[in-house]
Amino acid sequence: MCGIVGYIGHQEAYPIIINGLQRLEYRGYDSAGIALYDGTNIKLSKTKGKVSDLKNKIESEISTDGTLGIGHTRWATHGVPNDVNSHPHSSNSGDLVIIHNGIIENYDSLKKELIKRGYTFKSDTDTEVLINLIEDVQKSENLKLGKAVQIALNQVVGAYAIAVFDKKKPNEIVVAKLGSPLAIGIGDDEFFIASDASPFIEYTKNAIYLEDKEMAIIRRGKKIKVRKIENDTEVDPYIQELKLNLEQIEKGGYEHFMLKEIFEQPSAILDTFRGRLLSNEAIIKMVGVEDNMKKFLAADRIIIVACGTSWHAGLVAEYIFEDLARIPVEVEYASEFRYRNPVITEKDVVIAISQSGETADTLAAIKLAKSKGAFVFGVCNVVGSTIARETHAGAYTHAGPEIGVASTKAFTTQITVLTLIALRLARAKGTMSSSEFRHHLIELETIPGKVEEALKSDAYVETVSEIYKDSKNFLYLGRGFNFPVALEGALKLKEISYIHAEGYPAAEMKHGPIALIDEQMPVVVIATKKGHYEKVVSNIQEIKSRKGKIIGIVTKGDTSVKELADHVIEVPDTLECLSPLLTTIPLQLLSYHIAVMLNKNVDQPRNLAKSVTVE
Ligand code: GLU
Repeated sequence: MCGIVGYIGHQEAYPIIINGLQRLEYRGYDSAGIALYDGTNIKLSKTKGKVSDLKNKIESEISTDGTLGIGHTRWATHGVPNDVNSHPHSSNSGDLVIIHNGIIENYDSLKKELIKRGYTFKSDTDTEVLINLIEDVQKSENLKLGKAVQIALNQVVGAYAIAVFDKKKPNEIVVAKLGSPLAIGIGDDEFFIASDASPFIEYTKNAIYLEDKEMAIIRRGKKIKVRKIENDTEVDPYIQELKLNLEQIEKGGYEHFMLKEIFEQPSAILDTFRGRLLSNEAIIKMVGVEDNMKKFLAADRIIIVACGTSWHAGLVAEYIFEDLARIPVEVEYASEFRYRNPVITEKDVVIAISQSGETADTLAAIKLAKSKGAFVFGVCNVVGSTIARETHAGAYTHAGPEIGVASTKAFTTQITVLTLIALRLARAKGTMSSSEFRHHLIELETIPGKVEEALKSDAYVETVSEIYKDSKNFLYLGRGFNFPVALEGALKLKEISYIHAEGYPAAEMKHGPIALIDEQMPVVVIATKKGHYEKVVSNIQEIKSRKGKIIGIVTKGDTSVKELADHVIEVPDTLECLSPLLTTIPLQLLSYHIAVMLNKNVDQPRNLAKSVTVE
């Protein structure tokens, strides 16, 4: 996830690109860079840090003239954020320059092949592999840039929005898209390229949004040519008239970042298992796990340390690890763990989870575990973050930047990574048969589509929210894998609507919280078919007898809960251990809509910070 910008026309490219990058910073901000071409020289400047750092550096480094240019603000996926890994990247000859948003899954095998052919690499990125692949294709067959890009992309597995230019072609930029967004603004004899329309909205209202597997050859003063990457057929592009304002564009047309991030979950989950889950070959490939398999297999137990939503993801993982891989798991609040003199030995594996990778308490817990000789594995979203650096090994979630303070896609992608680890260990330990393993992989692959389906409940969840928005308290109940989802649902509501909410294991209700139930009390019950269903239905009956209002989260087609509940929200059927990835969706939407109806600041709720870097 990152922001890309390009320009070719009659104006100076630099101001357009630098302002455009500033507008796209919400998409990624660990480093930035620009390449400008004045027809004679390619001038490249890039740096770790924000676009403002680039701005401070660039004018003393290069002359900023040129009417062709490309720029990038990075959200690292391959290689830590530093100057060298920043985009744009050049090919070995220096003639081709690229910016890229996405992940090239098979970069490793392509890189090995290119090294054999004499190519060298300066950075750790997948992107530098792609630009050299394009160069290799171009040189070996003496092709035009567009053709070389097309052939190269047909060898690539992954996701990309790219813009490439060639020193030998001062009037041309080639762009292509698969999975990541790419818009082309069409002005008078000038073209703008960007991840969304915000960088060019003041210059033109006409834009083409490339579809997946399409590429475009953009030539100064010529009509744009769009082609299909797979078979080279020409496409007649649809030119849209833009109606959104700047802020609406940045939020992808959604009213808030939180809602955008909720709806991004299908693609975020897909990005998380991209290149790791290979269902055809029935394997899971995670370097951090593979390299340390001995440690995992020798572990007496796994201790998960985290805070807030990440702690809830850890709780889901406890159920998954124990069920699939038969490894004992303890889940600890990092803030408690660090101060309570815990028993930790060299035979413990500690998994630390944090979206930002900067959470102070989690970091302190990691240091403590390391000092006692435990092997520490990190699960974070931000590449190169402190936790990523402080742990012995780890796996990134690749969810892209999360801007809404209330975590949504971070939660589901953390569960996805932890599920992949549990499955890999289950296979290595032999606690799962190969057919069960394969079945889980195939089912996990369907989850993005099923999340998409679960999101269709949005309008109905909004009507339910309207009914209960003025409630003073909420209870959330779930069992098994879905007990942590109940906790997370309650936390989301508290965080952004400031309504008091409690999450409980459904059966615990009768040991206390049942005293709270009366006709004023909405109770959200996760009652999916496979999770102790009959028992949860009995719990629902107990609430009903005390006149509580029931909002049931049920498996599609359920009839029993429907008879008892005041409202039911359906999610698709899946394996029980994967159901949290679906049941959490309506709970996120419920808290979102209630907060909006109560006029709360959804993206920046009071008293909260996105990354808690103090203890
Ligand atoms: N995979 C590329 C990198 O890590 C691009 C990441 C992005 O989309 O910002 O450099």
